[in-house]
Amino acid sequence: SLGADWARAWITASAEVLAENRVALITLDREIGDGDHGENMDRGFQAALGKLDELPDSATPGDVFKVVATTLISTVGGAAGPLYGTAFLKASLAVGAEEQLDAAALVLALTAARDGVVLRGKAEPGDKTMIDAWTPAVDAATAAAAAGASPYEVLKAAADAAERGAEATEPLVARKGRASYLGERAIGHRDPGAQSSALLLRAAEQVAR
Ligand code: ADP
Ligand code: MG
Ligand code: MG
Repeated sequence: SLGADWARAWITASAEVLAENRVALITLDREIGDGDHGENMDRGFQAALGKLDELPDSATPGDVFKVVATTLISTVGGAAGPLYGTAFLKASLAVGAEEQLDAAALVLALTAARDGVVLRGKAEPGDKTMIDAWTPAVDAATAAAAAGASPYEVLKAAADAAERGAEATEPLVARKGRASYLGERAIGHRDPGAQSSALLLRAAEQVAR
């Protein structure tokens, strides 16, 4: 199972991968948005990283998720800050005070995160948003856990599905967020939030190996 060390390592790896992909995410958002997604995510996760240092050694995975949530909500503007903030807050509530997350707990956390984004942003699958990465990730994680997968295998299934989901946003017209103003001009471009979601879930898997 995966504990607070994994949760901290996940946020550290996420901050790294978002810094590495800052320009790539800005480029995606410049095509169909306002060009700030890479900047927003990089700034938010750097801030979250700083806050992790202030957590006591006794912090649980839920405590880690909660600090990330409040930091993202307070430091990241735009659509993605409140959406990712809600995702981490709901994941935190879903795992409660558990010290170790097994496959079932990870599925609960991923599901709660996705449901939080939907509650907040009202996007449906196919609207060309981060939900197009999260929903297949949740479905794949759920199926993997039901088939007896380990926590690592659950995260791998989620990351693989999220990457495919992000790629599958390319031919879509957007029905939520700034890209929805573009109509058919959004076709052919990958949704930046779906891409950042896939990066986050891949980081979760990589640090669980
Ligand atoms: P902004 O659009 O305010 O500049 P960002 O660029 O940081 O914010 O984030 C844009 C991303 O947010 C989009 O690529 C999309 O994935 C996601 N997004 C926007 N609106 C919604 C929504 N209603 N539901 C889910 N995701 C959304
Ligand atoms: Mg933007
Ligand atoms: Mg913006």
